[in-house]
Amino acid sequence: MAGLVGTSLLGKTAFAETQSADIDPRHADMAVINAKVYTVDSRMPKAEAFAIKGGRFTYVGSAAEAKMFISRGTQTFDAKQMTIVPGFIDCHNHAGGNILLYEVIVGNPYEVEFVTIASIIDKLRAKAQKTPAGFWIDGYFFDDTKVKDNRQLNVHDLDQVSKEHPVVVHHRGGHTSYYNSKALELAGIDKDTPNRMGGTYDRDKNGELNGRVTDRAREVFNNVGKRETFTAEQNEQRDRDGLAYISKQFVRYGLTSVHHEGGDLFALQQVRARGELLHRVSFETSGDILEAMIKNGISSGFGDEWIRFGATSEHTVDGSFSERTMALSEPYAGTNPPYSGNITETQEDLNAWAESVQRAGIQPNCHANGDVAIDMVLTAYERAQQAAPRPDVRPKITHCTLINDDLLRRIKALGAVPAPFTTYAYYNTDKFHFYGEERMKRSMAYRSFFDAGIRVAAGSDFSPGPFAPLMGIQGMVTRTGWNGETWGANQRISVDEALQVNTINGAYNSHEEAIKGSIAPGKLADFVLLADDPHTVNQEKIKDIEIVRTVTAGSTVYEK
Ligand SMILES: [Zn+2]
Repeated sequence: MAGLVGTSLLGKTAFAETQSADIDPRHADMAVINAKVYTVDSRMPKAEAFAIKGGRFTYVGSAAEAKMFISRGTQTFDAKQMTIVPGFIDCHNHAGGNILLYEVIVGNPYEVEFVTIASIIDKLRAKAQKTPAGFWIDGYFFDDTKVKDNRQLNVHDLDQVSKEHPVVVHHRGGHTSYYNSKALELAGIDKDTPNRMGGTYDRDKNGELNGRVTDRAREVFNNVGKRETFTAEQNEQRDRDGLAYISKQFVRYGLTSVHHEGGDLFALQQVRARGELLHRVSFETSGDILEAMIKNGISSGFGDEWIRFGATSEHTVDGSFSERTMALSEPYAGTNPPYSGNITETQEDLNAWAESVQRAGIQPNCHANGDVAIDMVLTAYERAQQAAPRPDVRPKITHCTLINDDLLRRIKALGAVPAPFTTYAYYNTDKFHFYGEERMKRSMAYRSFFDAGIRVAAGSDFSPGPFAPLMGIQGMVTRTGWNGETWGANQRISVDEALQVNTINGAYNSHEEAIKGSIAPGKLADFVLLADDPHTVNQEKIKDIEIVRTVTAGSTVYEK
């Protein structure tokens, strides 16, 4: 496809933001004609041409009218009936670029791929052999249901890596980790150590520690063992390189806007200054930066169209869907003693946090997976809105996985904006049996949100889930996974609805729907050229549609 188009027509120079003094809208920088444009703009859902000037769309409509925007100096691009959609928006992403670049990766971050426990041991052992005793050996992107051995990773496996180093393998879901004996010993954990609030030290049938530790029980490992230290300059360089690296990965999959869960704001600005930031960032933060925002009157929306303060980062209220620690009203099937997941925050603390954020004019954002946790979050948001009423807060619920009719009603009444998992319906069907069909009918409930008139957005939660928007769209449309299993088919949505979720609803999620999320005059010229039309291709192949080009602000930031 790329050869058909020709680099000179749609290459970096053609789509580069021009600083021309000519502001006459009839003199477009670029006109795209003969395209199949799905605008995601209800006033004109389909178009065949558009014009761009200064990084924004100036005209969208027919090829005949687009001609009025073409003058000498306008680059004209014949799309040869390719499909064009607005740039995709991911509203929940941990954007851990430096982990991808610098750490030991034991699973596939982007696709479904099965690995062996032996391969994990080998990779970590190679690292241990180059690392002084006593220092941590970390593995990332482990997925416990993508293991060829068809069993759980355990302490004995990790003892084969080393007995002199503390060793940990982090589940990609981010809520559970697997430790070797040295790590458990350094942390003073033995088989008689009781579980603690918000976490567990898991045991095998004989009551011995099996190495798996969940949620907040992992905090005891924070201050034991030695870790490689870096100078401030080294840390800055790693963060910068990591962000530049992940920005390239995002645009490769068609993402032009991503909500970042924290990260290094300084590095982000450095990457932008170097021209290496290829996507737009809604910066979601917590801790020191959030405190500073509250103290100094920086509210959500501060920044510009490249880097802007969005909601807070996810304030975590319960455990994980993929690692089966989310807080359920009914216990997990087959657990004895009955296990209902982890609540990681008290209602009282949650209320106080939500109110302080709301008072500061900052969009609150909580991580809530289970119905119990979503109920707690809504209680805190409702309370905050009463204590400090503000218009159009759009309190955000990250994941918002397991809902019921009462929760739906409260979400709608509050104008809350959920960002459920996107790729899970394809990537994680191997975990759905832990919840069962009854619960899956109410999980990642895109259909229910649409029917209730709730503006539901996409939240890949990378690293827990792959971030590919087309994989997400396929899952939303089919509810069928890589293994052929279909779960919660009642929650299917149409291709058009899935496009809305991944574009305009994402813009709404950060109060930016006036400037992006659809292809319309005046909006930022962010769009994706697809080799096939997701409306007509076999629905089981949507994820395989080739991203031909990704364009941000009228500049080609990726081309096949
Ligand atoms: Zn997250």
